[in-house]
Amino acid sequence: MKLPGSVKIREVGPRDGFQSLKRLLPVAEKVEIIEALIAAGVPEVEATSFASVKALPQFQDAEQVLTRVSGKNTLLSAMVFNEKGARRALSAGAGRLVTVVSATDAHSRANMKCGIDAALKNLDAIFQAARQYHAPVTGAVAVAFGCPFQGDVPETEVFRVVRALVSKGADAVILADTVGTAVPNLVEKRVNAFRERFFETELILHFHNNRGTAMANLFAALLSGATVFDTALGGLGGCPYVPRAAGNIPTEDAVYMLEEMGVETGIDLEALIAAARRLESIVGHPLPGQVMKSGPRMLGLRL
Ligand code: ZN
Repeated sequence: MKLPGSVKIREVGPRDGFQSLKRLLPVAEKVEIIEALIAAGVPEVEATSFASVKALPQFQDAEQVLTRVSGKNTLLSAMVFNEKGARRALSAGAGRLVTVVSATDAHSRANMKCGIDAALKNLDAIFQAARQYHAPVTGAVAVAFGCPFQGDVPETEVFRVVRALVSKGADAVILADTVGTAVPNLVEKRVNAFRERFFETELILHFHNNRGTAMANLFAALLSGATVFDTALGGLGGCPYVPRAAGNIPTEDAVYMLEEMGVETGIDLEALIAAARRLESIVGHPLPGQVMKSGPRMLGLRL
């Protein structure tokens, strides 16, 4: 089995996870979780989203959260959707911007209220703002493995969007399985095709676990040479009121598997488990993470 020596985990729970919560979390609790992730050694945290307050009231405190957290050795990134959001994020101290375009017109129109080409055009002002702050911009491609409106998404459609993002100056591209339909052989194909075409661009994989395939997809991507993965503490995500909705791969589950295989993450698993358990008590409902329940291997033996 050909495994890399190390990988990078991007924690997206404070953005992708928190956005699924109906109850507005107090700033202090968000900051506590982000600081616990930083203390555990997570190299990058997507800390908040500068979405419109009407669309996502959970993030009305985006500036406060970013300015109150000190990144230390952790890169703090923020999701942005327009120039105003980009400037707010940058002046609050975001070290990296993350922005999103759909791989299909149907999903783009449903989510961004415009087609792909208009959505790409809207990004120009974000890239321009980031250049003024010398901050990198990462482009996420939503529904890159399957679309709830269109079904299958041909590789050519995905890479057309990737190419546009790279030509605008994206330092990295996230291929996101937004609705959790991807399976390992599709992931392998897409990772290989990406690495052949865009070998100078960092590839990040973002898998949702709606159908239980997320960890298998991460493993397939790992064997195909991918080394950067988005995960969410405790697996938080998906609407808690919708049965079977699912978040990203639980960070602690990914770290457990990777470290046990000898793939370094630089993250303290026990600190991560403590943070996931604290997050569970904050949100007030059980989280899908497994390792936060069973514990690391040695502790598990004593249970
Ligand atoms: Zn996501």
